[in-house]
Amino acid sequence: MTRAGRFAPSPSGELHVGNLRTAILAWLFARSTGRDFLLRIEDLDRARAGAEAEQLRDLAAIGVTWDGAVVRQTERTAVYDDAVDQLSAAGLTYECFCTRREIQEAPSAPHAPQGAYPGTCRNLDPAELEYKRSTRPAAIRLRADVTEYTVHDVLCGEFTGVVDDFVLRRNDGVTAYNLAVVVDDAAQGIDQVVRGDDLLPSTPRQAYLASLLHMPVPEYAHVPLVVNSGGARLAKRDGAVTLADLALAGATETEVRDLILQSLGLPAGTLEQALAAFRPADLPRGPWVWTGIGVLPLAD
Ligand code: GLU
Repeated sequence: MTRAGRFAPSPSGELHVGNLRTAILAWLFARSTGRDFLLRIEDLDRARAGAEAEQLRDLAAIGVTWDGAVVRQTERTAVYDDAVDQLSAAGLTYECFCTRREIQEAPSAPHAPQGAYPGTCRNLDPAELEYKRSTRPAAIRLRADVTEYTVHDVLCGEFTGVVDDFVLRRNDGVTAYNLAVVVDDAAQGIDQVVRGDDLLPSTPRQAYLASLLHMPVPEYAHVPLVVNSGGARLAKRDGAVTLADLALAGATETEVRDLILQSLGLPAGTLEQALAAFRPADLPRGPWVWTGIGVLPLAD
C-alpha cells in the first residue's frame, strides 16, 4: 500500500482560512515526503447539504490536489461495526447507558483523570444490565486498560494524554469519531496525520485504539490553529473568513493562498513552489492571528 497523508474535513459548513491553512500544511507535509494525499469527508456527524461540494471547490481553488476518490465516512459504517465487533470479541468493550448529565453528576473514580468517564457501566451485574437494556439503547465504550498513553508528534514532541473508556459507537448507532478516524487512517494507508492542534488531546486515545486493533500508529504533526484577534479559534462569525466571503470583500483565491503561505514563512506562489522552501522545523510554532484583509468584516 502507498504511504499517504490526508485532510479530513467535517462537512458542516464552508472551510475558513484556518481550515485552508491546515489543508495546505497537510498537503505540504505529504507531498514533501513523497506521499499520496487523500481527502476524507467526515460526515458521520454535523453534515450540511452542499458543504462537501463547497469544500472540494475551495481546496481546488487554492491549489490543493488529491489522489484517488474522496472517501465518505457514511459509506463505511459496516467497516466500523466490524472493528467494534472485533474489540467486543476480545472483551474490550461494554455497553453504557449513561446520559451526559449522569456522567457529569457521577463522582469521579479515585485517581481518574479530569474529564474521564467515571466507569459507571463498566462492571454492571447481569440483572442491572438487563434492567438498563430495557430503559434505553446502549452506547458502546472501550474497556481501556490504561489511563494515559504517549504519542510522538513531529512538531509537539512527546505528548502524554488521557485515555478513558471512550465511546466507540453512540447510542443512536452512529460510529464515534475516535473509532472512525483510526479505522479509516489504517484502511487508507495513511501513515502521516497532519491536523489542527486542538485534536492533540484526542491523539493518545486514537493511538491506543490503533494498537488494540493491531493497526499501525501514524506519524503525527499537530499544527497551530488560526485565531481571531481575541485569541479564540477562528470561526465563521469572525467576519470574512471563507473564500466566498473574502472574494466579496475583494480578495482573490490567489491572494488568500499567498497570505496563508506567508503566515507559514513560505514564499507566495503556487503550492508546488512553496514545496521547495518547506521545512517543518522552520514552521512558526504559535497560532496565527487573523486580522482580516484590511477591509471591514462582512455583516452576518
Ligand atoms: N474531521 C475533523 C475536523 O474537521 C478532523 C479530524 C482529523 O483530522 O483527524 O475537525
